[in-house]
Amino acid sequence: MTERRAQLAENLTQVEERIASACATAGRKREEVTLIVVTKTYPASDVRILHELGVRHVAENRDQDAAPKAAACADLSLTWHFVGQLQTNKVRSVASYADVVQSVDRAKLVTSLSAAAVRGERELDCLVQVALDADSGERGERGGVAPDAIEELAAAVDAAPGLRLGGLMTVAPLAGPYAGRQRAAFDRLMEFASRLRSDRPAATMVSAGMSADLEDAVAAGATHVRVGTAVLGVRPRLG
Ligand SMILES: *Cc1c(COP(=O)(O)O)cnc(C)c1O
Repeated sequence: MTERRAQLAENLTQVEERIASACATAGRKREEVTLIVVTKTYPASDVRILHELGVRHVAENRDQDAAPKAAACADLSLTWHFVGQLQTNKVRSVASYADVVQSVDRAKLVTSLSAAAVRGERELDCLVQVALDADSGERGERGGVAPDAIEELAAAVDAAPGLRLGGLMTVAPLAGPYAGRQRAAFDRLMEFASRLRSDRPAATMVSAGMSADLEDAVAAGATHVRVGTAVLGVRPRLG
């Protein structure tokens, strides 16, 4: 076993233990939570090792890095999640390898994702990204729509050919009333997710929680946690 493989295996075991223990504390089944490993800034060779270690969901936030990585790993059975702020000029590329786009935060993006999915004969699962720190009509510092825009965007995704509405995603805000209050932020997201699901029962995904706050996300009811640093190590640069 190479050194890198041993390191990733150990980190993965620790993250797995954290998720299992958070599930046990919350009275949830382990299968209710999917681990997505955020591989941004790390090479395709790491993705390959993670796949050998049983990881089946990976996430990226920049098309420039993600596209070649996904191509290099095209032989692996992986679900690729796109979690970064997405420019419309990158949509066609992203739609060619991503299975899930978690960062849908404006109508224009829905239109271009739909066109790209249809053209590429693909079905994309889309999550509406919610910015809990954004006021009505604004977008969040790290992407996402203000809560009062969720419904309209969800309806647009639902009506768009080639797209399926998966649910909601959030990143815990660094500013505003939820800064430093991850559990409260994730509870709030769950309220929006439950409301959405009552009209659109197929929209079951709730993506929340990262390396530092995955326990809060599991406790709140997240179905997907996105973990980078705790599996791969501290990133060499901001990403
Ligand atoms: C980088 C990133 C993560 C993972 O963050 P870590 O703190 O490294 O676990 C999760 N979600 C999004 C949207 C990210 O950009």
